[in-house]
Amino acid sequence: LQNQRQYSSKGERVAKFNGVKDANGNYPVSLIEGDGIGPEIAVAVKDIFAAAKTPITWEPISVDPIIKDGRTAIPDAAIESIKRNKIALKGPLATPIGKGHVSLNLTLRRTFNLFANLRPCRSVAGYKTPYDDVDTVLIRENTEGEYSGIEHVVVDGVVQSIKLITRDASERVLRYAFQHAQSIGRKKVRVVHKATIMKMSDGLFLNVAREIAREYPDIEFDAELLDNTCLKMTTDPLPYNDKVLVMPNLYGDILSDMCAGLIGGLGLTPSGNIGDECSIFEAVHGSAPDIAGKNLANPTALLLSSMMMLRHMSLGEYADRIEKAAFATLAEGKVLTGDLGGKSTTTDFASAIINKL
Ligand code: NAD
Repeated sequence: LQNQRQYSSKGERVAKFNGVKDANGNYPVSLIEGDGIGPEIAVAVKDIFAAAKTPITWEPISVDPIIKDGRTAIPDAAIESIKRNKIALKGPLATPIGKGHVSLNLTLRRTFNLFANLRPCRSVAGYKTPYDDVDTVLIRENTEGEYSGIEHVVVDGVVQSIKLITRDASERVLRYAFQHAQSIGRKKVRVVHKATIMKMSDGLFLNVAREIAREYPDIEFDAELLDNTCLKMTTDPLPYNDKVLVMPNLYGDILSDMCAGLIGGLGLTPSGNIGDECSIFEAVHGSAPDIAGKNLANPTALLLSSMMMLRHMSLGEYADRIEKAAFATLAEGKVLTGDLGGKSTTTDFASAIINKL
């Protein structure tokens, strides 16, 4: 299974972690604590990792933006750290709205060519939502589409944003989707699109999906229109539990937040930005400026992202142990943060998990 996840049927490398251990036998991991609640939830994760004796050495880095050749860029020291370690855990980064520097999240994805954004959403036992057993897996193309950053004023009052879809990026993310389905034992891949309207761009994505599907005869492939997916998932998400969904960038961004809503919100949803050379794991949520600095944030999403990271690094046994303690704490329901209806602090929640390790 591990090999299936790491190599495509054409023998191309897909998302293989090949980090190097340091002198202490630990893997160095670049850590971007991020803005707002980022440092608070990062401390919680670090404390839990230390208690679980996870063989990781954190290498804190700053990604405060610099402007290079007129474009937003990540400082060289941060780029070198991630390139060297091939793995990073990232807290949320605030993005100015409608002005200012280009999103650092986008810049990171582009700088490291993190072509696939993997977003699983699984119901948390003990946290009551309209559906109890949601278990969706969504993969979003992460480098192009509407997020290509190609925007300009045509004339006063008219602007144009270009949606870019390329065969190369589509092939890469679609092949990853099929391989990920194999690696987690799912037998169905569904592409979500709007090729009825965007006949050329989504049409290309869909056609490439049909071609790649032929490489994976053991996986059932079908396609669904995005609006239909939204309607069906909010009516009854359970039929999606046996599939891997894959889609262009913008649709995946929005649909994954909708999935987060199905399981109880952004405080619980992790993600991985997967590339050939390195991968960056992060919570789906943002910097939550409304609760920042108050020790109120729920660290679960970042913690679950770090579990995805450990599994990516073939350190699954540590992930299983920490995840078990986290889910037990959530299921018990005695120590919960405010977003989950509790009154506990971030620190208390982390301590409760540590006590169950
Ligand atoms: P947000 O996700 O930060 O917050 C939305 C709501 O969810 C808020 O009420 C917040 O308090 C709550 N929330 C989020 N995470 C939580 C947690 N861990 N525990 C408890 N409650 C939590 O979204 P926003 O307010 O729209 O964005 C704030 C900033 O974050 C913006 O600058 C945005 O660009 C940025 N952002 C960054 C990322 C990222 O770094 N990947 C993702 C989304 C948004």
